[in-house]
Amino acid sequence: MELKLYNTLTRKKEVFRPLDPARVRMYVCGPTVYDFAHIGNARPVIVFDVLYRLLRHLYGPEHVKYVRNITDVDDKINARAAMLGIPIRQLTEETYANFQEDVKALGCLPPDVEPRATEHIEEMKVLIERLLANGCAYVAEDHVLFHVAAMPEYGKLANRSLDEMLAGARVDVAPYKRDPMDFVLWKPSKQEAGSAGGATGNAKSVEPAWPSPGGIATPGRPGWHIECSAMSWKHLGEQFDIHGGGIDLVFPHHENEIAQSRCAFHTPVMAQVWMHNGFLQVEGEKMAKSAGNFITIRELLADWPGEAIRFAMLQTQYRQPFNWTEAGMREAKRTLDHWYALTSDVEPAMLCADAVTALSDDLNSPLAFAAMHELRSEAAKGKTGAAACLKATAQLLGLLQLSAKQWANWRPASVGIDETKVEASIVARNAARKSRNFKEADRIRDELAKLGVVLKDNKDGTTTWEVAR
Ligand code: AMP
Ligand code: ZN
Repeated sequence: MELKLYNTLTRKKEVFRPLDPARVRMYVCGPTVYDFAHIGNARPVIVFDVLYRLLRHLYGPEHVKYVRNITDVDDKINARAAMLGIPIRQLTEETYANFQEDVKALGCLPPDVEPRATEHIEEMKVLIERLLANGCAYVAEDHVLFHVAAMPEYGKLANRSLDEMLAGARVDVAPYKRDPMDFVLWKPSKQEAGSAGGATGNAKSVEPAWPSPGGIATPGRPGWHIECSAMSWKHLGEQFDIHGGGIDLVFPHHENEIAQSRCAFHTPVMAQVWMHNGFLQVEGEKMAKSAGNFITIRELLADWPGEAIRFAMLQTQYRQPFNWTEAGMREAKRTLDHWYALTSDVEPAMLCADAVTALSDDLNSPLAFAAMHELRSEAAKGKTGAAACLKATAQLLGLLQLSAKQWANWRPASVGIDETKVEASIVARNAARKSRNFKEADRIRDELAKLGVVLKDNKDGTTTWEVAR
């Protein structure tokens, strides 16, 4: 099966040929851990999880290595830790643990390696020293800057000229830069007032600090871009197959990663294929704290099962903008309810070839779902094998991972329904019905309905309940 992927670098869909099929390597820019991840952040996590699963299917699980980093040194982290009055390390560890819980609930496999930036400072310094030695970087006022003029192909990924990049980017015009586009590889960290300075080794930093490269006496910290160049190098090598992230990362982040890695290693490319997911919107609007439509993964998981969120997101091909809507979530949940019911007592069997072909065409998940909906109709008509095929194919996409019972027992946390009380009310209602006190029975039913609990009286005399949507 031929896998085709759209490559931002060449602006073409290309047949994927790994450098080494026995060692397919993918790097995806991970979260900056300072606060709960939002549902926009969930999109690259889900999209590249699907690609990871597909690569494992095509090349064998032991032949694929997926690295997703954790940015645990960043000015946003420093600012939030200071605001909360907690140590930086506590903030990054807690945020990372929350992120892991969230993405697990979304049905994502853990990557093979999740490197932390703070554990790769030495690799970053090695890269910076190389770039200084070969004239691609320079020291100015305790900063190390990458000199963009040293990289003739700078702008190739973003497909923009230097002038266009300058006009479009909010670049810091600092007096110590040779060119406005030059970007920071390393910067000095603020020392506490009255301290003796970094050279003595006694200085107390208000910002995280490490001994600096380039003969700089003041301790400092890395810029964001060098973190990914260092971590991908350490875990995947000087060149690898796929580099992914959201579309907003093309410029400057990925353009700068390419400049750093290619100039440090003298390689023609950093990654062969550059993939970018489109942005997520909420009910047709840009998601923003200021617009009041900002939703964290955690909040959404209180209202919907993780698989329904995943299902809804994969209805759109990954390069298109994705419009998150409440209606789309309801539809996703309903469809999954049906799929779980149809497949509850079948073993997964053969994958649906049409769905795998669709996914192999630049992850065309909507087309894969069209093939699965056909299987669903066949399964509903009782066609043998269709349900087993639906289950296997859905599982390749990270869906139908739970038992039918686990799925049926899921309840939204936000409704705050006390299950024991509901069960007790049902017992009381059944007793009232038995003694033909229908008024009381109806009163109990209406009381539960007000809480959003819908009762269903089954033919066999039992009463089950579910939360209304
Ligand atoms: P950040 O923590 O902001 O660096 O983002 C982590 C990842 O989420 C990056 O790959 C971003 O491109 C991606 N991302 C952020 N916001 C959105 C959004 N609204 N829609 C899709 N992807 C996003
Ligand atoms: Zn990155």
